[in-house]
Amino acid sequence: MTSEIIDIVTGSLNLSAPWYVKRVEFSPDKGVVDIYVEVRQDADIPCPRCAGATSRYGYEPNERTWRHSDCFFYKPFVNCRRSKVFCPKCGVVQIEASFARKSTRFTLPFEAYAMLILADMPRAKAAKVLRCNEKKLASISTAYYTHDGNKNVSDLIAPEDSIAAHYGYTPFGAVAFQRGLAATANSWRFSSEFVEADTATVYYNYRHYEPVIGRWLSRDSLEERDGPFLLTFLANNAIGKFDELGQRAKV
Ligand SMILES: [Zn+2]
Repeated sequence: MTSEIIDIVTGSLNLSAPWYVKRVEFSPDKGVVDIYVEVRQDADIPCPRCAGATSRYGYEPNERTWRHSDCFFYKPFVNCRRSKVFCPKCGVVQIEASFARKSTRFTLPFEAYAMLILADMPRAKAAKVLRCNEKKLASISTAYYTHDGNKNVSDLIAPEDSIAAHYGYTPFGAVAFQRGLAATANSWRFSSEFVEADTATVYYNYRHYEPVIGRWLSRDSLEERDGPFLLTFLANNAIGKFDELGQRAKV
């Protein structure tokens, strides 16, 4: 029974060697599950900065705690004292936890779930659903947009400098690849415009655009003033032109 619970918890954290779950403690009176994670003593850990060989150098002084996504109706917390290593080139280096982004107090699965919830409801309500402090939730929902020269959102940068989302596009705006915890939950992508989640069309205030076929879905409200082709996107020059409202191609 206990080993099955450890397997479930290990899977929920996506843990792999040298990280492992040492034990799980239930506290029904407090409504919490404490998960204790450690790094195997005999494991060789490469230097996080230069990937060179290291020797172990003890642990950080205090145990840290991360909120994890709910297990068995209880609020779970991961507890861990992360290892330090000594690298001949870099000196003493702290190993970051494999299950969390640097400097956050939430696990990656919790953050991924929270972002999906936050995409559909205000932060105060999301905090109630997630049973989590609203101010702490702000650290997940805050990110800074960067865009390329064609005003397409390229990255979302989280406050502690990690990449929350990264996108690449085809010339006509279909998402060629994406990665990052916030990549699906974030709705502002190609041309810094809003993507409708259900149809994957891009909303330009006056018209919806279909990036896979590279066409508007309705006629230009300016009629022929922007040219004779009423469904053509950016006069078929998506690299050299842009559109603000879905009405007119601009250079
Ligand atoms: Zn090093």
